[in-house]
Amino acid sequence: MGIEASELSEFLKITQISVYYENEQLVFITRIPLVFDVELSLYNIISIPIKFVEDGVDSWYISTTTYTYVAITKDRKQFTTYTEKEIKDCIETAIYRICKATQPMIDNNDNTPCELQIFKAPDAFQTGCNINKFPLVRNIYHRILNKNTWIHVGDDTLTISCTDLPKIVRSRSAITILDINCQVFTRNAVLTPIEDISSTNYKDFVPTTKIQNIFNKIPEHIHKYKLSDVWNNTSNIQLTDLHSVSRSLDEIQQMIDEEVIREQSQKHQFIHSNLLKETHKFIIMDFEFSMVKRTSIVVISGAISNSLEKFEVSKLEGRPLLLPIDEKARPMIEKELQVAVKEIKRIFVCKTELQDACLDQLKQSLNSTRNNLTREYIDHYIRQGNKENNIIVVWNGHSDKTILQRLNLDYPMLNITCYDKYFNKNFFIQFEKLSNREIIFEVDIGKFDKTGRLLNLVETHDRVCNRKHKTTYAHDPRLDVEYTKCIFNHVLQKQRYENLIQYFKI
Ligand SMILES: [Zn+2]
Repeated sequence: MGIEASELSEFLKITQISVYYENEQLVFITRIPLVFDVELSLYNIISIPIKFVEDGVDSWYISTTTYTYVAITKDRKQFTTYTEKEIKDCIETAIYRICKATQPMIDNNDNTPCELQIFKAPDAFQTGCNINKFPLVRNIYHRILNKNTWIHVGDDTLTISCTDLPKIVRSRSAITILDINCQVFTRNAVLTPIEDISSTNYKDFVPTTKIQNIFNKIPEHIHKYKLSDVWNNTSNIQLTDLHSVSRSLDEIQQMIDEEVIREQSQKHQFIHSNLLKETHKFIIMDFEFSMVKRTSIVVISGAISNSLEKFEVSKLEGRPLLLPIDEKARPMIEKELQVAVKEIKRIFVCKTELQDACLDQLKQSLNSTRNNLTREYIDHYIRQGNKENNIIVVWNGHSDKTILQRLNLDYPMLNITCYDKYFNKNFFIQFEKLSNREIIFEVDIGKFDKTGRLLNLVETHDRVCNRKHKTTYAHDPRLDVEYTKCIFNHVLQKQRYENLIQYFKI
């Protein structure tokens, strides 16, 4: 760079000038940076993905690089590296780009990263480079800096539009538009050339490598493994982002291993839980009832479901059952029913909603063509499938317990409640073994603003289940059993089935 007038603007680019006035004189201070006269060629390293087809399976691979910019001496024996930001901070003159030497000069020996081996010996590429595999979801077009050339990754149909004769050069992985009046339309992108390109300083260096040798190293099962979900719906992946959606061959091997293990354990779990289900069955039950003559219970209806069936709930209806305290349970006769109706009206006089529900149930039960509100049916239902351990699950079921006792149905019982344990409005679903009142499981369901220490079935259910259940009428035992089942399943998801059955071993 000279000091002639025509070169002044170049000179100003690299200098810092400050001016001040003193003793009727203008003083100019010119700071010129000291420059080591080491001429380096700067390379922006771009790894071009390659499609490899074998046995009818095609996969995309890209070799991994360590540096984005390397500057190499003329003899290619030494180099230094730059980041994108450091490159931006360089001062560009007509002939040179002057950069700060932030990184030391390094000898380009056998231990340097893959992309530098290319400068030493392109043949060595096969040993020094790692390749990653990636799923190509859409075409990628990457414009090379200051050029009307795009690196193209993918298979695309191109439409060329020019005012003149098309002047476009295509190679295996690049498209160059030579004429400013041409455009290339791809499926998802339009490549438009820009004028005013000072391309003399920018040259492409595409090393010839024996890439095939790398592909020969890829094990068949890794080549055929379908990578999915790594793009995470990223709509605009660029060539430089491919490292984030690609996986090394080791990582893929690990993914395959994990999948094999997961499949095996799933199979194991399936067999295991089926075995468990062979030995235990949980029957969820709910009764609608009322009291008559202080000590007798009238069971109006009920519902029953077992843990082996996912949603199936059977309604128990028919002639109501009278369960006196010291006598055998029996279906009610007409006269007793009339007494019961009067009693129900009296008991629920303040709670008309409950009274109506009770009377409706009574009416429904009597009109039902089914008649399965019997001890025999319930017992048969519990025992069906010949399971050894049948456990009855109830919601706030101390009275259900009494009902079963009076029906002479003696099975272990699991009671579910939702309780404010510490008086701080933080509620816990509790599984209680009714035989000894032992709390066996507890699940924290968080805060709920309510006076009183118990949540009711609907309140608890709505905290743990988002499913919209078909509601029929208030206190429909079928719906109550469905709700109880949701809560039961919610707790089991956290505490596991195999732990629960430990408490109900014979
Ligand atoms: Zn539910």
